[in-house]
Amino acid sequence: MGKVYLTGAGPGDIDLLTIKALRVVREADVIIYDRLANPDILKEAKDGCEFVYVGKKDSHHSMPQDQINETIYQNALKYENVVRLKGGDPLVFGRGGEEGIYLYERNIKFEFIPGITSAIAVPQYAGIPVTHRGVTVSFRVVTGHESNNKGQSQIPWENYKTDDTIVFLMGLHRLKFIANKLIEIGKPKDYPVAVISKGTTVDEKTVIGTLEDIWEKAKDLPTPALIIVGEVVNLRKELNWFETK
Ligand code: SAH
Repeated sequence: MGKVYLTGAGPGDIDLLTIKALRVVREADVIIYDRLANPDILKEAKDGCEFVYVGKKDSHHSMPQDQINETIYQNALKYENVVRLKGGDPLVFGRGGEEGIYLYERNIKFEFIPGITSAIAVPQYAGIPVTHRGVTVSFRVVTGHESNNKGQSQIPWENYKTDDTIVFLMGLHRLKFIANKLIEIGKPKDYPVAVISKGTTVDEKTVIGTLEDIWEKAKDLPTPALIIVGEVVNLRKELNWFETK
């Protein structure tokens, strides 16, 4: 029986892979990966390493999570070193916990390998710090893609009146809804928002707007994209180091 490494691949830029992740990738007998992991990482694998793609194919849906869990398990029965490579960090909306529990219940050893999460690194490459002294004392990372509960939002919007920075992952398709909700709870219509697409890669694009106009401005941006809301967005004027390179 093998061991499974539930590994963060970082947000896109291959240089943001950790040394530990690189080590297990080089030793892997099989790598199970999805759409958000930079495919160039696979070039680091040894000869004969098997690759299993479990992400979205064109317009098709990704493999359901229970099938992914089972695929990881079956590979752990077959191989010694199994790497499950996931975009960003495996436990930030990465469902790595579910995969770990599935393996635990079947007596398969596993390790988590943290990755640099897009939630922090992508704004950073766009010149937006998630916290800044004198501007904000905290940040939240929120899913923009809520599991459907009879059309009701599960997000406690009323708690979002504070000045925390808010980062929404998986929210581009609901950008208008999110912006309207924030206006509804009392945030100013001209409150700053950025949408960052394909962050940390050569294709990175950032659109800046306000709660009122961002959905119109950013609606054609390609995914993956995240939304960041807060006064920290204004710091981009001085801190935009990557897109101006
Ligand atoms: N575990 C991942 C997040 C998974 S949820 C992490 O820690 O980064 C997937 C969402 O992450 C996407 O819908 C998008 O909102 C965001 N995301 C991931 N990579 C991104 C990138 N390179 N640029 C912009 N957003 C990204």
